Amino acid sequence: MKIGILSRNKSLYSTQRLMEACEQRGHQALVIDALRCYMNINSDQPSIHSRGESLDGFDAIIPRIGASVTFYGCAVLRQFEMMGVFPVNESVAITRSRDKLRSMQLLSRRKIGMPVTGFASKPDDIKDLLDMVGGAPVVIKLLEGTQGIGVVLAETRKAAESVIEAFLGLKANIMVQEFIKEAGGADIRCFVIGDRVIAAMRRQGAEGEFRSNLHRGGSASLVRITPEERRTAVEAAKVMGLRVAGVDLLRSSRGPLVMEVNSSPGLEGIEQATGKDVAGMIIEYIEKNAKPQRTRTRGKG
Ligand code: ADP
Ligand code: MG
Repeated sequence: MKIGILSRNKSLYSTQRLMEACEQRGHQALVIDALRCYMNINSDQPSIHSRGESLDGFDAIIPRIGASVTFYGCAVLRQFEMMGVFPVNESVAITRSRDKLRSMQLLSRRKIGMPVTGFASKPDDIKDLLDMVGGAPVVIKLLEGTQGIGVVLAETRKAAESVIEAFLGLKANIMVQEFIKEAGGADIRCFVIGDRVIAAMRRQGAEGEFRSNLHRGGSASLVRITPEERRTAVEAAKVMGLRVAGVDLLRSSRGPLVMEVNSSPGLEGIEQATGKDVAGMIIEYIEKNAKPQRTRTRGKG
């Protein structure tokens, strides 16, 4: 098969591993930088070019679209979908999962466990917003944040009010969330492919840190997950319409709670913590499922 990896950087661990896995399994792999693509959008033959050459004949595309290029990256992916190419994750599902508010609303609609969460843009009553989520302690998150930046634990009501006021003063959209203390500064990353969790790791924050992000000094280890955690992760990916996803769970006293569903989950941490060939499993999934015109939406978005 001819497989395109939509990634801006050939030297990233995940991109490298996906290329290796393609080659090991006898496929042709090509890294495509979405920002360098230009497209002909017409009604009889949509096409994509990059550096003077036409990008055609692909059987599948693996989108690895960074948060900062979601808009154009998804447009390029949609163009491939219109050309009948099988996308590992569809552009609509990626767009959906990048919007934290929309993601939480979709998950709650399907009764999937999540921390009690409030959203605000310009609330005129911060006290009521705090009451809505059960009062302090709360976790306050900037909607645009990643890698733990912009995630603050406010232990008292006074602290919470000040942080909310400060963020809103900067005209940022925020999420105010129940603090899951019993998670103990750890979360569980479940790597979902199709309808299975194929690998899971537990990330533990550094001493005295409630955020488990590896970028914040957290450490990862292999973990056995419960059937309920397995079901929750698979269901969360399904609700988002993602065939490959990293579902982050918090272990709470009322069961697993979904914190985030990631459409381009990194491979380095999970492969190292579990010793599994996750890249190979993604390619295997493509071998079993990639058929032309198999996109559900075919670019309808
Ligand atoms: P980011 O997208 O920046 O990684 P997250 O929402 O994943 O932000 O939060 C970063 C980390 O903070 C999580 O991995 C988790 O360890 C911790 N955390 C986030 N929300 C909560 C919460 N409601 N209760 C307890 N810990 C939390
Ligand atoms: Mg996170």
